[in-house]
Amino acid sequence: MRATLTTCPYCGTGCNFYLLSDDKGRLTGIEPAGKHSTSRGQLCLKGWNAHAFVHHPERLTTPQIRIDGRLQSCSWEQALAETHMQLKRIAENHGPDSLMFLSSAKVSNEENFLMMKLARAGFGTNNIDHCARLCHSSTVTGLVETLGSGAMTNSLSCFNQTDLVFVIGSNTTEQHPLIGSRILQAQQRGAGLIVADSRKIQLAEHANLHLRHHNGTDVALINGMMRQILLDGLEDRNFIDKRTENFAALRDSLEAFTPQYVAGITGLKEHEITAAARLYAQAEKVMIVFAMGITQHTHGVDNVRALSNLALMTGNLGRPGTGINPLRGQNNVQGACDMGALPDVYSGYQRVADARTRLKFSAAWKKSLPEKPGLMATHAIEAAAAGQIRGMLIMGENPMLSEPNQKHVRMALKNLEFLAVIDIFPTETAQLADLVLPAACYAERDGTYTSTERRIQRGRKAVAPPGAARADWQILGDLLRRCGVPADYSSPAEIMEEIARLTPSYGGATYARLEQGESLQWPCPEPEHPGTAILHRDQCTRGKGRFSPTRYRPPQELPDEHYPFLLNTGRTAVHWHTGSMTRRSHLLEREEPQAYTEIHPQDAQKLNISERQMLRISSRRGTIEVSARLTERVPPGQIFIPFHYAEGAANVLTNNALDPESGIPEFKVCAVRVELC
Ligand code: SF4
Repeated sequence: MRATLTTCPYCGTGCNFYLLSDDKGRLTGIEPAGKHSTSRGQLCLKGWNAHAFVHHPERLTTPQIRIDGRLQSCSWEQALAETHMQLKRIAENHGPDSLMFLSSAKVSNEENFLMMKLARAGFGTNNIDHCARLCHSSTVTGLVETLGSGAMTNSLSCFNQTDLVFVIGSNTTEQHPLIGSRILQAQQRGAGLIVADSRKIQLAEHANLHLRHHNGTDVALINGMMRQILLDGLEDRNFIDKRTENFAALRDSLEAFTPQYVAGITGLKEHEITAAARLYAQAEKVMIVFAMGITQHTHGVDNVRALSNLALMTGNLGRPGTGINPLRGQNNVQGACDMGALPDVYSGYQRVADARTRLKFSAAWKKSLPEKPGLMATHAIEAAAAGQIRGMLIMGENPMLSEPNQKHVRMALKNLEFLAVIDIFPTETAQLADLVLPAACYAERDGTYTSTERRIQRGRKAVAPPGAARADWQILGDLLRRCGVPADYSSPAEIMEEIARLTPSYGGATYARLEQGESLQWPCPEPEHPGTAILHRDQCTRGKGRFSPTRYRPPQELPDEHYPFLLNTGRTAVHWHTGSMTRRSHLLEREEPQAYTEIHPQDAQKLNISERQMLRISSRRGTIEVSARLTERVPPGQIFIPFHYAEGAANVLTNNALDPESGIPEFKVCAVRVELC
């Protein structure tokens, strides 16, 4: 029996565990890592079952090429030559910007770095993005503007020191279970807890105050709290004067947000708004925790700006137990952003528009590099539908289930001249591809992953990949060499050396340090630097923290007489994203095998719906069928559908209206009709 220490492939918490394998090279189980600073010997249900999908019979084992409409096995040489030739042909005929590269929050830092190198140096386009566009692009845009850095400001250990946790738009105990338990431990120690969420999530049962504001009214709520804090004189004057700018503009913008006005928008009682403001401002150290309930709106960036304003106004930044803490969803969504799998930045958020940065990367890669920022993933789907994007390489993502308005996505992907997919399973997206390249999964390759608290950690190979499957870094290295770009890597450690040379915030990250047991949080600019647990200590990354006034804008599509229910979407505790891994893990699938909708008993009674009855849910974009779950977790007038299920895909219904700045879709609000099947 062998035990291989690695990082969990699911959420961004970054737990470590040992993969147990036998002498036949098969995984047999999981053992938590007792000494790891994040997981501390614990795992959630998904972590305990993270080995279960690895040897699933549906794993992709050979490259496949579409001939006469059917995917058929082919050699690696044929698959790689065809991928390179087709992408090159399209770039030559229609320009490099007719290509799109979708990277992945599930693969390693090294692999994301190579994907962005392939797009930029290999094919000459900045059209590269990944699923952070769908989860935290609003966070990056909002926090970069106000603080200069788009990442979680503090560390998970700060929950031990905080006086109050303000959780807004995060079902933490189900989505980041071990962070959820840290919040509960803080609450048991005596820290206050405010939960703002329209659903009665688990954390709400333990909160001092549960604010059930209407979905999409966060700006009004937060602005109302700030107005009350100023009225009560509870702001941190010293912090505002010394460390921030633009306060007068913020103060003026808050005048309209009286408790009465905010109550009218949010559906809260006036006293709940004043109570929240006072609880928040009277605590010495407050941690704001948020996730996709904040970001996935057409005003997602404004939501993040408002939270940043709240923390700056009360001086809750740069100290232990404080900060603005976006919880990143996938295990390496932070790392994929850090590595520049984004249309406007290289690794370390170095801007493609900056000539000196371009020159630096160009010298290293011996290729001239494009100047114009590229397309966001959500815009690329539109461009594919319009025939402007003609070729696409997708690595480890499943836009057919993860993007909003599924019918439109299918049409866009089918409209491509050439689609290649690198993945571990025949996902709904892979089934549309012209070429499928089988990849090794997390347990079959080495690499590093960066968790939500900016912690760079090792993933380690425990078993061999199935059949002819290869590690993504090997596939991308081959494509880079075919493009004439230097990429003679013999291991991910060598790729990390290149990352460190070109990326100031990762300058001190080496495999040697990680192997010695160091766990580094970026910025870690030099080999001797210990890493940074708390950002913005003496000043913000941008210098002064900038107050950025926001005005309330309602969601794009609210219930009406034809579509009278508000649809909210999200995840469950046992499944993960598009379900390609968890739905192939037998114990997890046993727990939640069927697509369902939560509906309030009052609504169920009005419509004559009983528990588990099949319902037809329709929006302006499509119809699905799911079973009914009667529960007071949702308020009357709202239904909640998890988006993991291909056979009842919530994203058939969701609205592809985008935040104009971050390009994030409004997954959290659209209007639907509920009928009996
Ligand atoms: Fe994995 Fe997240 Fe669960 Fe930890 S909390 S075991 S990282 S899914």
